[in-house]
Amino acid sequence: MAKFISIRNIRFMIKEVFDVKSLTIHDYYGNHNEKMFDMVIDEALKLAVKLMYPVLEEMDRNQPVLEGGEVKVHKSVKKIMKEFGQGGWIASGFSEEHGGDQIPIIIRGIASFIFAASNYSASAYPLLTTGAADLITSFGSQELIDTYVGKMLDGEWQGTMALTEPQAGSSLSDITTSAVPDKNGRFKIKGVKIFISAGDHDGVENIIHLMLAKIENAPPGAKGISLFVVPKKRFDDLDGKGKGKLVSNDITTTSVYHKLGYRGTPAVEISMGEKDNCYGWLVGKENQGLILMFQMMNEARISVGLASCAIASAAYLAALEYTENRPQGRPVTNKDSQIKQIPIIEHADVKRMLLFQKSIVEGSLSLILQCCMYADLIKVTTGAKKEKYELLLDLLTPVAKAFPSEYGILSTSTAIQCFGGYGYCDDFPVELYFRDIRIHAIHEGTTGIQGMDLLGRKIVIKDGKAGLFFLEEVKQTIKIAMKVPELEFFAGQLESSMKQLEKVVGFLFNIAGKKGIDTYLSDASLFLEFYGLIVISWQWLIQGIAAEKALSKDSSKKDKNFYQGKLFTMNYFFRYELPKIYGLASRLMDGDNLTINMKTEYFKD
Ligand SMILES: Cc1cc2nc3c(=O)[nH]c(=O)nc-3n(C[C@H](O)[C@H](O)[C@H](O)COP(=O)(O)OP(=O)(O)OC[C@H]3O[C@@H](n4cnc5c(N)ncnc54)[C@H](O)[C@@H]3O)c2cc1C
Repeated sequence: MAKFISIRNIRFMIKEVFDVKSLTIHDYYGNHNEKMFDMVIDEALKLAVKLMYPVLEEMDRNQPVLEGGEVKVHKSVKKIMKEFGQGGWIASGFSEEHGGDQIPIIIRGIASFIFAASNYSASAYPLLTTGAADLITSFGSQELIDTYVGKMLDGEWQGTMALTEPQAGSSLSDITTSAVPDKNGRFKIKGVKIFISAGDHDGVENIIHLMLAKIENAPPGAKGISLFVVPKKRFDDLDGKGKGKLVSNDITTTSVYHKLGYRGTPAVEISMGEKDNCYGWLVGKENQGLILMFQMMNEARISVGLASCAIASAAYLAALEYTENRPQGRPVTNKDSQIKQIPIIEHADVKRMLLFQKSIVEGSLSLILQCCMYADLIKVTTGAKKEKYELLLDLLTPVAKAFPSEYGILSTSTAIQCFGGYGYCDDFPVELYFRDIRIHAIHEGTTGIQGMDLLGRKIVIKDGKAGLFFLEEVKQTIKIAMKVPELEFFAGQLESSMKQLEKVVGFLFNIAGKKGIDTYLSDASLFLEFYGLIVISWQWLIQGIAAEKALSKDSSKKDKNFYQGKLFTMNYFFRYELPKIYGLASRLMDGDNLTINMKTEYFKD
């Protein structure tokens, strides 16, 4: 049985780094305790090992097909949805009032990490359903909740997020799917959606699309977008109250995409209202659709970052196992061909590759869990405290989405490199992981869009208040680390990088005034990488503090190895990765407008 996550690292994160049990002092999480959190994590691992990992390769090799107008998926999807429904995994984070267990977001995050690491495609079905049901519960009418949410949480009906259209991917303001009100408070829906994950399949009885559409005569652009529940099958009485029998709602699946990876989950094109008989029900108020959808998208963006580090974790642990067992070459200090070959993990360059992967996986996971912790604190605080956590979460969301996705791709590629030629072949699943992880830099907003979100919106939101809160958080970490002699160097490096950040932001604000917003945003993706490297260094210093604290106590030899591993990986990140910010800063503070001035015609011939 291959190892796809480190349970030791998970325990370190939730007990020593984030002290998750501290959440239980709040009423909302008051019914839980540390033992229960451990049980949830153990059960998630059991489910992943029993149900999901065994079909990882099978689901990849047997892609969904469109047959007789219906998408057929691997037979285990039905079982997975059923077990996730019956086991309460889809509902686990919902309030007790809505049939859930009020499990903290950070613990759910760990469970999702385990599921995605074991089999990303399989994990997507229940995860999408949770997100869609959450939107209905948060903003839908009682009728919509009563009609749809129960079946979704039970795993009988699939939830989706149906936004993208052929002409509207990154630019959702250009959607054209239309919604025309009828006399009974329903809307007739017409249009085409593309790339809809789990948008049709035979593993469930019904598909519930959370769909963006424009009501006729709505204001143009993003301000005219509304959100609807559009089921694949609707109740024939048409009153939306869940009466009668299920009949077709005039949605046709016109194609299923053939993808690079993430092949166990279908991405489909659907057409609504070809027979003028497709109905949708409004969620929330008219023209508020994009704002409401952003609730789901922000969570989905964090989930994408989480899934990226989960896949990178599986690839890293596969590479670690392989490099420990693969004999090749001899030490550079003794090339005598008579001595036995050494395992490749003994070579410095292979150790560097493993350190890179470990630093990306565990650094990214730390950031994601930090975001989950902020989301939990938002739930249990009020007033100024709540606002602080909201702003921090808002600021860090594009980083938590994009950094693990982009660096996760590099990390998984490095895992392939550790395997040499075997990594390129399907004898080992690292090629599958490499294909699976690639989607994460694209869906839920490409990296380019995340860069513009960070620099164009989040940095300037409320006159830079979010950035100031972030500065406070980092300063607090630096202050603690400065008191530990072994961490002083790293605290100093992080302090210098924050000064560099201040310089870059100051320069960019200045250039925005002088040369305009297009110059300001032209290297937003590079700014996102620059910012991400600093954020992950901060997370590594937080982990370093916890590791030093543990080492200062009596710990077993095995534990000492774990903490030393943490300190070496932190050291690696600060010495190999963080210095990249100075190269990026030099580019970011050039202001020469190179990409803007490059003319389209210059690319030709
Ligand atoms: C496997 C898969 C699953 C998906 N699942 C879903 C789903 O469940 N639901 C759903 O609604 N959608 C889904 N999508 C769609 C996905 O969200 C979009 O593909 C994505 O948002 C990008 O849109 P696009 O493909 O139209 O690319 P485009 O928007 O055309 O982007 C192409 C490139 O241009 C860049 N670009 C675009 N606009 C700008 C700009 N203004 N400034 C700078 N650069 C720009 C982008 O960053 C990107 O690099 C899925 C896609 C795939 C491939």
